Amino acid sequence: MANNILVVGELDGGAPSTTTLELLGGAQGLAAGGSVSVSLLGTGATAAAGQAAGAAKAYVSDDAAYDTFRGEQWLAAVQEAVTQSGANVVLIGQSVVGRELGPRLASRLGTAAAMDCVSVADAGGALQFTRPAYGGNALATYTIATSPAVATVRAKSFEPASGGGAGETVALPGAGESRVAVLGSEKAESTGLQIQDAAVVISGGRGLGAPEGFQQMEALAAAIGTDKAAVGASRAAVDLGWYPPSQQVGLTGKVVNPDLYIAVAISGASQHMAGCSGSKVIVAINRDKDANIFGFAKYGIVGDWKAVVPALIEELKKLK
Ligand SMILES: Cc1cc2nc3c(=O)[nH]c(=O)nc-3n(C[C@H](O)[C@H](O)[C@H](O)COP(=O)(O)OP(=O)(O)OC[C@H]3O[C@@H](n4cnc5c(N)ncnc54)[C@H](O)[C@@H]3O)c2cc1C
Repeated sequence: MANNILVVGELDGGAPSTTTLELLGGAQGLAAGGSVSVSLLGTGATAAAGQAAGAAKAYVSDDAAYDTFRGEQWLAAVQEAVTQSGANVVLIGQSVVGRELGPRLASRLGTAAAMDCVSVADAGGALQFTRPAYGGNALATYTIATSPAVATVRAKSFEPASGGGAGETVALPGAGESRVAVLGSEKAESTGLQIQDAAVVISGGRGLGAPEGFQQMEALAAAIGTDKAAVGASRAAVDLGWYPPSQQVGLTGKVVNPDLYIAVAISGASQHMAGCSGSKVIVAINRDKDANIFGFAKYGIVGDWKAVVPALIEELKKLK
């Protein structure tokens, strides 16, 4: 079945964010002869439409009032884009924007939202939305009977779109009044490659035994390449003050979907797995052969990380 898909885009430094391009890539594959359009809000939106690969049409407003996300302002603009585009599917990133906008938009449109999806697939006519359930221990697949189907989708769930930017732009109204005042914002302390963007994430847990263990995790990341690998942590390690909260993976931390997730001395509690179960390949290093993490791992190394990690680093260095 042909689908008319609207991607609710987000801007990052005046360009469509990486997740926006991934959603457009997914939309290209799911449209099946239907249309793909994108909404972009905030300073530079019109210019960014030219970089929105895969979208035929972009619904834009350059109003700087959209630069800070306020749900009710975005909701009005996105609803207008849904109406004008005739979308029967709306894809939004599982971000600060998507978490609030997804359910509000669905409620406004009298339809349903599938939140935090890891995949959206065409199952011979009906779209199937798959999302983790039970704290990441199971995957639940939904179809949505009402239109438009609204879904928020995790980063790295699709390959980014290819091709030129949107050929046509349509102006959306500027932002209306908002009852929400944003009093300030703080940038989380984190330098270099972000764990959500890294192809490889190496996370350390309480089993590292001391904060110094994270130096070894960073050495492993450096051996793989700091342009590819970043270091995360379990909540237990973060709560102990061994690594910054910005690097926490899990239910109350960040959700990562890297190509490779290396869990070092992490038991694999469901709250941790909720943040990494979408990884393409999980490798676990743990001295307890019965640790829960091995139930999720494609490859497991039973052993003391203090022996295993330096050996891995040595082998990686030989490959360079
Ligand atoms: C509401 C709520 C939200 C939560 N959110 C999160 C979250 O976002 N992220 C998160 O991570 N947790 C979260 N938790 C906590 C979660 O339940 C676990 O307590 C936590 O993930 C455990 O961290 P860990 O695996 O590092 O530590 P542990 O469970 O203590 O596991 C340590 C592991 O290290 C292994 N080990 C020890 N020494 C070595 C060694 N020398 N070599 C190799 N292996 C070794 C042990 O065998 C063990 O498996 C949350 C909990 C609650 C209740």
